[in-house]
Amino acid sequence: MSQGLDAFWGGFLQRLGVKYTYPVVHTHKGAEMTPCGLAMIAHYCSQTNTIHLNMTQMNKLASRIGDSAAYFSLAHEYGHSVQRHLGMLDKNLPVVVLELQADCLAGVFFSATKQLGLLEPGDIEEGVIMATMTGDNHYEDPSHHGTSKQRAKAFLSGLRNPTACFQ
Ligand SMILES: [Zn+2]
Repeated sequence: MSQGLDAFWGGFLQRLGVKYTYPVVHTHKGAEMTPCGLAMIAHYCSQTNTIHLNMTQMNKLASRIGDSAAYFSLAHEYGHSVQRHLGMLDKNLPVVVLELQADCLAGVFFSATKQLGLLEPGDIEEGVIMATMTGDNHYEDPSHHGTSKQRAKAFLSGLRNPTACFQ
């Protein structure tokens, strides 16, 4: 399922004059130590341009919510790899800014998938549920990813308009 993401972001970045080195997608079955720290569910390590996916968790999401919930996680991590290629990760931005942008970029990808006629009914809602579920209210925590409302809003804004992610 990552080929679609590779092709889409490869084309997107090419139009911006950036060559996309596809991230390696490494699947595993529990928490895993990576050069960037512990990967619990889905995790992007920029040092190695690798997405680590805990398939036990991915399968749980897919069976509890739907396949697009797991797909949202993967699309979000791809968003981080796109950020890396655009130099966003070198700008010392607050984590929450980068996380919401990754949610927005996940929305861009869902929109492209929709235009290809490849989304099933309910897929967008599953993405929204996932974005909402992964929100948190730990504002003071440096790893704060955004509230449920912010994350769902970021996903939906990317879905509507890709340029919204870069404002
Ligand atoms: Zn993230």
